Amino acid sequence: MTTVHDLTTPALLVDVDALDANLADMAAALPGPRLRPHVKAHKTTALAARQAAIGHAGFTCATVREVEGMAAAGLGEDLLLANEVLDARRLGVLDARVTLAIDSEETLRAAVDGGVREVLVDVNVGLPRCGIAPSRAGWLADRARAAGLTVRGVMGYEGHLMMLDDVAERGRLTQECMERLLAAHADVGGEIVSGGGTGTYALNTWVTEVQAGSYALMDTAYTAAGIPFRQALTVLGTVISVTAPAGETPGWAVADVGLKALGMDHGNPAVPGAQVWFCSDEHLTFAPDAPVAVGDRVRVVPAHVDPTMALHERVHPVRGDEVLDTWAVDLRGW
Ligand code: PLP
Ligand code: MN
Repeated sequence: MTTVHDLTTPALLVDVDALDANLADMAAALPGPRLRPHVKAHKTTALAARQAAIGHAGFTCATVREVEGMAAAGLGEDLLLANEVLDARRLGVLDARVTLAIDSEETLRAAVDGGVREVLVDVNVGLPRCGIAPSRAGWLADRARAAGLTVRGVMGYEGHLMMLDDVAERGRLTQECMERLLAAHADVGGEIVSGGGTGTYALNTWVTEVQAGSYALMDTAYTAAGIPFRQALTVLGTVISVTAPAGETPGWAVADVGLKALGMDHGNPAVPGAQVWFCSDEHLTFAPDAPVAVGDRVRVVPAHVDPTMALHERVHPVRGDEVLDTWAVDLRGW
């Protein structure tokens, strides 16, 4: 039996029972095609296959590489690239159903030139990022149809609302955003209204499919926002230094899980039973509640799951201390 003590650290662990509970809870809330899981959160086809096995056949991707990897893994039944690209040539050649978001004549041209046949019109619903103005969406859909593309509908991502503390306010503003998206949809047509994420999955009742991704693995930022899924992802580290001899409570201890092993844009990670002080490149300095010794293992909970996954080549599904398998984080890179 391989245990976590056999792993070289830092090592990414996923608690499979917590993962499967998250997948089951979400599938109960949003069964089958009501959820189009976003793979950017985990970048791991082995994990996407688990989502497909419980009924979610369509997936959301953020990069061309993610679409390619999903197609190569046989998970290409219905892939949405929910992002703008100016070079779609790697998409048109795939053995998969690929739908591409467009928000301009340039991205529409890229879809045509790349051999992509189906698109969604990406609508700006309030997040200052991608998406065409709602009033212009019908015009772009007409242009796309004139160019021979199938327009499957609209998408609009209310990403600025995901972590609003006040849940009632999060719901009210989600409605405002989705009214903009539905107004655009009336002009665009098509069957799909795609949007939402882990922060609004239970609030956004206007879309036909929710693009949530982080729910599967979770992080401390979404837990702080009151999202009820379990923290399945940790980074296993080793205590490499303490400030006091064994047996005395140290002032602080240091583990080998630095910011090169963690997505830090949502703040410091958490270490259960300890106060985290700070991270540097290869170090995590923390004050443990109970004494720790050099060589002890710690499990560090990331504040942001997506960039954490993108830093690691592999993730180990575990049950307790037992390492069950090794999954490649095979959708990394560009
Ligand atoms: N849809 C799009 C276009 C996104 O960019 C994201 C995340 O940033 C999501 C959906 C939802 O992701 P999550 O469930 O991780 O919040
Ligand atoms: Mn994220």
